[in-house]
Amino acid sequence: MITTREEMQMARENIIRVSRELHEIGLLVRTWGNISQRVDEKSFIITPSGIKYEDLTPEMIVKVNIGDLSYEGDVFPSSEKAVHAACYKCRSDVDFIVHTHQVYASCAGTLGIRKIVSYFEEEDMLIPVAPYALPGTDKLAENVAKTVKKYRDCNAFIMANHGTICLGADAREAVFEAERMEVACNNFLMDVCKTDMHHGVEVGYNSHLEDGRIVYDIPDTPERVKHIHEAIYRKRPDVRYIVHNKSEAVMTVSRRANHMRPLLDDFAQLIGYSIRVPSNEHGKDGTSYHNIKRHVNAIFSLNDGAYCVGSNEDDAMAVAIVLDKGCIAHTAVMRHGEGHYLSLFECYKMNRHYRKSYSKLADIKK
Ligand SMILES: [Zn+2]
Repeated sequence: MITTREEMQMARENIIRVSRELHEIGLLVRTWGNISQRVDEKSFIITPSGIKYEDLTPEMIVKVNIGDLSYEGDVFPSSEKAVHAACYKCRSDVDFIVHTHQVYASCAGTLGIRKIVSYFEEEDMLIPVAPYALPGTDKLAENVAKTVKKYRDCNAFIMANHGTICLGADAREAVFEAERMEVACNNFLMDVCKTDMHHGVEVGYNSHLEDGRIVYDIPDTPERVKHIHEAIYRKRPDVRYIVHNKSEAVMTVSRRANHMRPLLDDFAQLIGYSIRVPSNEHGKDGTSYHNIKRHVNAIFSLNDGAYCVGSNEDDAMAVAIVLDKGCIAHTAVMRHGEGHYLSLFECYKMNRHYRKSYSKLADIKK
């Protein structure tokens, strides 16, 4: 229980410290995910919405009412606040919560399984999966609450097709749950789905626009690659930066000629909802070029990864990171033989909402 102003300041600083620690170990990326701490019977403090961890200051950590989700001040709390409130309501022993979009646990949550049975070191680990609902909705908070109530002995949960929620009496416990869940889910993907993949971005040929001219990071970029970059800038006037991602997972998907449907919320939001992988050699019939579409931010090239686009380097890199995770999920689902895909309607709704709120945010920053 926090009573004094000094204690509250320390708690806010602690949340920032934990967010940076999770960032450092790779469980939190960019602005995705959030952290909260219960401060008294009625309220908790939580990281704000859409602010990078490196830019966080203690004043930005928002105090939210557990009962009605009202909050103090004019910084928006995380849009996932209802999920945190629901967990505090049903578990009085929990005072700290970490929500992440960590790679292996999120991918394990796309397989359509209700619980992941795996292990961390010598110990068995059961990870319940809360059924899917659109992010930020009451339904999602309800689904998480039901699952948390059902598995009272568990502190690490997956939110299907989205991410994780880890509970603890303090920060140390919640962070430990996130760490061991990631190892256990990677073990599960390796053992059950035969998917053993590193994650990250493996850069191939990048480029950006400078005074209307294309500048390539690598001076001797091959002509066939330059043609694709040129076609992207021509067809997509909103694009100013291209990251060519050749990570293991993206390469694996680019070798298979098929259609990629979103398995994860962030994929539907940042990349799009109908991604084609060309079946013919690019250049010969221009198949890659036909895949350049408005609102689809990854363009696959047969057997050569994918071009991830954005209005700046940061945005293009975000697409590359989310695409890599989406490709691990896609590979795991293919090898597992089943998975739970997001519906076209859900994807459309999220994609539109994301683009709208993103342009609003950009307007505020101007
Ligand atoms: Zn989330």
